[in-house]
Amino acid sequence: MESAPDRSSAKSAVLAAAACAAPAKGEPYLLTPGPLTTAFSTKEAMLRDWGSWDGDFRAMTALMRSSLLEIAGDTAGDYDCVPLQGSGSYCVEAMLGSLIPRDGHALVLANGAYGKRIATTLVYLGRAATVLDKGDYLPPRGEEVERMLDADPRITHVVAVHCETSSGILNPLEEIAAATAKKGRKLLIDSMSAFGAVPLDVREIACEAFVSSANKCIEGVPGFGFVIAKKSALQQAKGRSHSLALDVYDQWDVMNRTGQWRFTPPTHTVAAFVEALRLHQQEGGQAGRLARYANNRDVLVAGMQKLGFEPLLSARWRSPIIVTFFSPAHPAFRFERFYELMKQEGFIIYPGKLTVVDSFRIGCIGQVDEHVMRNVVDACARSLEALGVGHAAPPQAALDERKMLAEAV
Ligand SMILES: *Cc1c(COP(=O)(O)O)cnc(C)c1O
Repeated sequence: MESAPDRSSAKSAVLAAAACAAPAKGEPYLLTPGPLTTAFSTKEAMLRDWGSWDGDFRAMTALMRSSLLEIAGDTAGDYDCVPLQGSGSYCVEAMLGSLIPRDGHALVLANGAYGKRIATTLVYLGRAATVLDKGDYLPPRGEEVERMLDADPRITHVVAVHCETSSGILNPLEEIAAATAKKGRKLLIDSMSAFGAVPLDVREIACEAFVSSANKCIEGVPGFGFVIAKKSALQQAKGRSHSLALDVYDQWDVMNRTGQWRFTPPTHTVAAFVEALRLHQQEGGQAGRLARYANNRDVLVAGMQKLGFEPLLSARWRSPIIVTFFSPAHPAFRFERFYELMKQEGFIIYPGKLTVVDSFRIGCIGQVDEHVMRNVVDACARSLEALGVGHAAPPQAALDERKMLAEAV
């Protein structure tokens, strides 16, 4: 993993070790929350063409749907999996437009860009919504959800983001689900960047539906997402969607009757995803993947702290998906230069999305392991040196902000 082998030896390395594949020579690691670095065999699965109506492709679709339901813990057969063309946001929009009745009212729990996108989507859909906006990185808590549901009987649905990828915060889904169920409301979850690595078991998290996509923790390539919803909710969604292409009921109904996607499926992406699912299972499923990602995060954070960097979030809220670091206070630090230097080292990092202080993000997901993370830290050290930044400590204002955050939650 430490050295980037050429394409043919990368293949045999993957087959032999069945561990993480180094990207092909010259290809950087994507330390981003999807698209991410995929296994060689996942890429290789795309090297043939499939007829969308053909039995072989229909079998892949069926296998993918049942595998995803298994990861979601649906042993009772209460849920179904509806894949849908497009990026993750298409699936979020499809879920909201299909599962929230036109006269419904959503409570959106927002603490970053993806929660805000949900609120914006509901405006487009003409669905009434109340937004609990916690700012950049404070978690919505169970008690406040309960209070808001008590205060407003119009609210029919709560919409939560599992891991808010803008800061990397892992929101307390158990609390939120318990509060929503206690108050007799329905829960919809954007688990885009969490499902497959962070537990989301429908036997434990009472939810109407959740969404995720191909290019996050299952480690496929982009091209589609999927809604996992209660069959009862799918039945009730008939005739409700504002959009033909984003009608989850119709996609479900046609897929169940014909085994086919309604419109042209992303055939190569599905083939890659089936291979990614095989690797996911081989790694020990959700638990195995979580163990690797959590270790990636821990090695990364420990190494970065040695250089003086500080993560935004305390360990309690830090997800194993992506970590936000404060930019160093040193006057010679320039993110754009740092980014370019890191790219030359073979790592694509991610700019920050906070409004108050400068930050950047490093993803822990994809085909990367602790060796890669150590190399990332070493590359950060060399990049700082090249910039003339002697120490990566953040400005005092950032630390004060973090202290306030720790006291608030
Ligand atoms: C990636 C992601 C999405 C979907 O983004 P797309 O760019 O449409 O794929 C939605 N929510 C969260 C939390 C995400 O991380």
